Amino acid sequence: MAAERTIFHVDIDAFFAAAERSVNPDLIGKLLIIGGSGGRGVVACASYEVRPFGVRSAMPMSRALRLCPDALVMSSSHGLYGKISKSFMAILRDYTPDVQVMSVDEAYMDMTGSDGLFGPPEKAAMDIKRRVREELKLTASIGIAPSRLVAKIASDERKPDGIFTVPPGDEAAYLAPMPVRKLPGIGPRAAEKLGRLGIQTLGQLAAFPEGPLRREMGNQSARLIERAQGIDDSDLSSESKSKSISSETTFHEDTTDRAFLDRTVAGLAEGVGRRLRRTGKHARSVSLKLRYSDFTTLTRHNTPHVSFDGDDRIVEIATALLEATLKHRNAPVRLIGVGVENLTEPAAQLSLLDPAVSDDSVISSTLDKIRDRFGEDSVSRGPG
Ligand SMILES: [Mg+2]
Repeated sequence: MAAERTIFHVDIDAFFAAAERSVNPDLIGKLLIIGGSGGRGVVACASYEVRPFGVRSAMPMSRALRLCPDALVMSSSHGLYGKISKSFMAILRDYTPDVQVMSVDEAYMDMTGSDGLFGPPEKAAMDIKRRVREELKLTASIGIAPSRLVAKIASDERKPDGIFTVPPGDEAAYLAPMPVRKLPGIGPRAAEKLGRLGIQTLGQLAAFPEGPLRREMGNQSARLIERAQGIDDSDLSSESKSKSISSETTFHEDTTDRAFLDRTVAGLAEGVGRRLRRTGKHARSVSLKLRYSDFTTLTRHNTPHVSFDGDDRIVEIATALLEATLKHRNAPVRLIGVGVENLTEPAAQLSLLDPAVSDDSVISSTLDKIRDRFGEDSVSRGPG
């Protein structure tokens, strides 16, 4: 086994709300919710002040306002968040080049062997938190552990404004009392299945025999047990280096034919998916590029919660992006492109626990093998 690693998970607390307060101190202490205020608006960020009312992000705003009628709702200022996010990542990169950006306000850092430069990990973490506080007027929580998995759980547990270290060897004991939902990738459905087996805590999951678990959870069971023990060897430095895979095509004649555009997007998405699976990685985002006959070019991205490597998922997301783009402007199209971005190690993901995602992955890689053996046109994915 490789030398023990020191991984930080750094996450800004209630980022959007805190960012608004950093430029407008009048908002400090208010019952602040960031999100869409219209009829179908959704909570993008719930400040800590509204959380005791039960308000959470991703909740419909109408429900949030029933729970907390006095809340102040502000729409999000993406330009501001992007600017702060860049400054935040720049601070992290002062400590190591091995930063894996997971979101606007969240990143992993590989701090292995940095003691000589910055002192013990806790000292470096305190220094990072101090800089975030002084330079950005924000608080961050930091989890320190030998793996990404445990570092992430540790930072989540200590929010807000916390630091927590899980030393090597203590991972399983640290996770044991926690409910299974604390493990990234275990959603309500998986938790329900585990509950049927009498598994409520990560300790129970860690000790559960693989055979019986497999009947409920499928072939990710061994990995699930490992993760419940805090075992996660997923690498971070290689991921931060990974880029994107894309493919595009220019039409002989500009077109508005939606069925033709849909077919083209699906074909491009499958080609990209196949190249993605050859890398052995998963992607976190899909992009769609569209150039109109007047050469205006739009690129749209979508980053779902779980990573993926299956064709169905890529086709589905790319098609939705096409739909949204054409809704924005329906004019003759000259060029169309599909890409996958933010490539990541599948080992870092429990998305495979979701049977639909897992099936898509297995099906798509099987089709790859058939295409490789019998040629490009030997397989068609269903009607159409
Ligand atoms: Mg955050």
